[in-house]
Order: sequence, then structure tokens, then C-alpha cells
Amino acid sequence: MMGKRSKKKLKYQSRTPLSGHKKEGKVLKPPFVQFGAGKGLVSWTNDRLPEMVWAALLIAKLGRDRALETFRTFLRFGAKDENSPRFWDPTLTGFSQLEPADRREILGVLCQTEELRGALAPLLLFSALPARDDWQEALQNAQPGPAELLMEAVRLTLFHQSQEATDCRWVRLMSGMFGKRVIIPHEELIQLNGYPRLGDQTHVRPSIRAAEGAMDAAEKRDLTWSNAFWAECWEKTPCLGVRTNEHVTGSAAEAVDLKFLQEIRRELESHWENTRETTAIDARHDAVFGMAFYALRLMEEVVTAEGGAVVGRLALRTLLEIRLTLHYLLKEDKLELWRTWRNYGVGQAKLASLKLEKLDPAPPNYLDGEVLNRIANEDFWEEFVAIDVGHWAGSDLRKMSEKIGLKDVYDRYYGWTSGFSHGQWGPIRESVFVLCLNPLHRGHRIPKPQTPPSLPKIKDDAIELFDSILAEVDRAYSPFSRRCRS
Ligand SMILES: [Zn+2]
Repeated sequence: MMGKRSKKKLKYQSRTPLSGHKKEGKVLKPPFVQFGAGKGLVSWTNDRLPEMVWAALLIAKLGRDRALETFRTFLRFGAKDENSPRFWDPTLTGFSQLEPADRREILGVLCQTEELRGALAPLLLFSALPARDDWQEALQNAQPGPAELLMEAVRLTLFHQSQEATDCRWVRLMSGMFGKRVIIPHEELIQLNGYPRLGDQTHVRPSIRAAEGAMDAAEKRDLTWSNAFWAECWEKTPCLGVRTNEHVTGSAAEAVDLKFLQEIRRELESHWENTRETTAIDARHDAVFGMAFYALRLMEEVVTAEGGAVVGRLALRTLLEIRLTLHYLLKEDKLELWRTWRNYGVGQAKLASLKLEKLDPAPPNYLDGEVLNRIANEDFWEEFVAIDVGHWAGSDLRKMSEKIGLKDVYDRYYGWTSGFSHGQWGPIRESVFVLCLNPLHRGHRIPKPQTPPSLPKIKDDAIELFDSILAEVDRAYSPFSRRCRS
């Protein structure tokens, strides 16, 4: 049914299912928010990665194994002054706050070989680098070169749980431990010392990250360098856009074009004629064929508006509503209910028509006051028409879908398409922004480069809903067997 589109399955294992959320008023809160966590959460990416970017550069240049060796050399050097530890803060800001002699000593350790100097030289790309003069001296003649190595280093460590980020965070944690700023139970210390070879890493890695994250819980960090780092990355390197793959439509949908839909239109028209029994008001017949023709019109606009991706989603939302409403009406199939539905619409026309008269200056272009007035008075004189400001069936679409056993269809199509019709952030994010691929820009959002920006095609979904509407026509006035897909 769904064409050839490959669909990624959502992974629910690692997410809190909706049932795990707590309802407070009209808000569903996930567990972490319920417990009040996440409020003062400090950020690895924003705040601490810039401080440990020297370690990330070593990993990017030397590879992980040799970088870890260098980290051990560095840590051993710090651990040797047991009684008055000096090097407990291995961040760039931390280095800058050392006594000048101590700073030169530790930078000398990090810049021992030409290879290490080459790896760390990109630090000089930053004019805001803390203790820049001392770094320049320690790096001797090493040139920062282009930003590629830095980009690779940041790419590897941008995600706070990546292996490389964990390595950097381990260096910081171990420095704090040897410097007696962090206290950790002995058996855990043994494991951390043997990182990444000792113990079950699926357990060790998260505990490193948790302990490193907790290091800042007590005091407020100075964010001058971190902010300057990201600002300079932004100023000095360009955005990297990407041409996203064109979203493809299943080949079955290709066949459904305007010509194809016009054949359906002809068949629907003759079926309308064959099933019509009276010139009196026939609320049922008008509703069934009215909705089918309306859906058809939407389909025609969907297939002609190539690239009408956002508008297509508004169409999906409407197709869903038609499909559910029609099914609901047919399931009950009471004359009174058909009339209620129709009269609700008449009332809305009257309401709009009355409001129109008060509009000043001229009413908007899309409204035809005469037509509205005619609809309001067509069935009855409008003085007999009540205006219902609620839902026509005193219900809502969700409740209706539950009542007729089509909640699954509702769930498939309602939420996100409604977001499109309301212009909410999520659909806006999906429609017009893409993530910048320059890791030095922390995955910020940039406008999608294409005109119009692509979105997954909606045609298969529209066809699915439209076919089910045609099936309702068949249910109401059998036989009508025509479908887009057989
Ligand atoms: Zn960018």
C-alpha cells in the first residue's frame, strides 16, 4: 500500500513512550521533566568541548590509541606532585589560570614532539585562545594550517556520548581525580585508570560521562573562552549545506496524474447521476458525493502542484478529516445526523457571512459574500438557522475516530499535518531548515538551499486516503469500484 518508500522504524526502546508521560493539565511531561532535572544542565557541546578541544585535536591527528597514550603521559605528569597537585584542571581556561612557570611546564609536556605540535597548532586559529602567547611559544613554529583538522576534531566530539567525547571527558575526570578535586570509590578508580580496557565499557563509559558532568555541578564555570570559541568558529568558517536526496514517490503513485483523476471524475459524475433520486434536499447523497468531489479536487491540486509540499500536507489533513467524517456518518447512517452535519456547515456560512458585513475596509479577496449568503439561505431561510460554535457532532475528530474504530488512521495523519496547518515550529523546522554540516557550527540550522525545499512526498498518502473515500462512496451507493490503486 505504501509504495516503495523506505521508512525508518522509530526506536521506542531508548525513548519514553507516551504512556510514560505524566499528564499535567494539558501538558504531557516526560519523566526527567517531572523530576525537575534538566534545569541547570551544563552542556558538553557548548561549554566544555571548547575547553577540551586540545584533547579532541590529539585524537583527530594521532588516532585514538596513540592519543590515549599521550593522555596517560599527561596524567602521569600531573599525578606525580601528589602533595600539592597543580594540574587538576586540564581545560584551556584552567591552563591559563596556572602560575606562568607551571603553565609553561605543562604546555611543554603537551607540545613535546613535532607531531604533537602539529596536532595542537590549530588552537592558534583562535585569537581568543586563553594564554595564547604561551601556546604560541610552546608550539614553536607549528602553523595552524587550514581548519580541516579542527573540524574533524569537533566532528568526533560534538555529540556528548561519542567515544571520542568520552575520551576527552575521561582526561578531565582523571585530572580532577589525581588533583584530589574529585573523589571516587577505590574499585571504580581502578576501572577508570584502566580505561578503556578494564571493565564492561557499556557501563564504564556512561559512568565517566556522569562523573565528568557532575564536576561542574557545584560551581559556575567561566564561559568566556567557550563562547569565544563558538563565535570564532562561526565567524571564520563557512556554512556547509547539503543537497538532501530528492524524496521519491513510489512508482505506483506516478501513474496517478491529472488525466487519470479526470477519468475518475467522469465515472464519479455518472455515478452521481445514476444514484440521484430527487431534486429535494438529499442530505445523505449531497454529503457523500460532495465529500468525494471535494477530495477529488484536492487530489487534482495535489498532483498538479509539483513541489507543493507544505500545501500537500494541508491537503492530507483535510483528506483525513473527510475520510473519518464520512465513515462516521455512514456508520451511524441516520438522516438526522446527515442533516446535523449539513446544518452545521450552513451555520458556519451564515456566521462568516454576518461577520463579512462588519468587515471594514473591504473583505478579503478569497471571500465571495454573495455565495456565502446564498449557502446560508439555500436550505432554509437563515432566520431558522442556528449557529453552532462547537463541533458539529458535539465531539472532536479524535473521539470520532475512536468511535468508528479508525483511531489508527487518525494517528497516522492527524498530528503532524495539523502542525503544518497551524504553522508550528516542528513543521517549520522540517520544511525550511537543514542542519549545517560544518561541525564547527555545532549543527545549527540554516535555510534549506533548494527552491522549493524538498519534503517527503505526500502523494502515496493522499492516494491512500482518497481511495478510502471512494470506498465510502461505494458503501453508500454501491457499486462504485474505481480506485487509484486496484
Ligand atoms: Zn553553519
